[in-house]
Amino acid sequence: MVLLLFGPPGSGKGTQSGKISQWLGIPAISTGDMLREEIKAGSALGNAARAIMSGGGLVSDDLVNRMLAQRVSAPDCAHGFLLDGYPRTVEQAEYLDGVLNQQQLESPIVLHLDVPMDALVGRLTSRRQCPQCKRIYNLLHQPPKTPGICDDDGTPLITRKDDSEEVVGERIRTYDEITRPVLAYYQDRKYHQIRGDRSPSYIFEAITGILEPVVAKNGSSCCKKPGSGSASGNGSA
Ligand code: ADP
Repeated sequence: MVLLLFGPPGSGKGTQSGKISQWLGIPAISTGDMLREEIKAGSALGNAARAIMSGGGLVSDDLVNRMLAQRVSAPDCAHGFLLDGYPRTVEQAEYLDGVLNQQQLESPIVLHLDVPMDALVGRLTSRRQCPQCKRIYNLLHQPPKTPGICDDDGTPLITRKDDSEEVVGERIRTYDEITRPVLAYYQDRKYHQIRGDRSPSYIFEAITGILEPVVAKNGSSCCKKPGSGSASGNGSA
């Protein structure tokens, strides 16, 4: 199964992606996390991405597409994966179709977390993240048990550089102008809109409600195209 988590910055994609990945046993791939790792490592890609990300713009399609293609060709993605934050442009969506075709994977199921724009700034500026396990907290709604410390591994939490009020405004504008139009690309496919202005557990229930029939039919890892010859998904019905 190939899943795309779609939604504006702060819509809860990162939180849901962890839950879904655990539930289905498929890798969750966040292009934002991958780019931040590249920056930390000081790679050429990281250096090219740094200024763009800190200004709230989009890293070039060419760089992100290549990074994505390499990641999803890894063995753990052979039977499916979840993408968080990709595709963000129509060109990326077209590129992804090519990659899925090449890997003989079915077209993706799109889960669109829809959150009113006026709720996003507050959510993002009160967000904190564990740099180690990537778990996301929110000081207003889901604070850690000990202030500033990850519940799961005790690592001090960080505020992402691009969660400052000025950059958040730019990220939301970028989403509206460049990423929102990608929805039209998927509208006639396996597309589901989910209200994202609810609690994380309520949203997760909505998502499992959508995916359970698919899992019951195919098994979570069954995503090969029928007749592709190597459809050996674990637990395919
Ligand atoms: P959010 O969805 O909350 O904005 P992400 O961690 O997904 O956060 O992305 C952070 C930044 O990384 C984006 O603002 C953008 O600069 C860059 N980025 C992530 N994914 C992509 C992508 N698919 N294409 C271009 N840039 C990306």
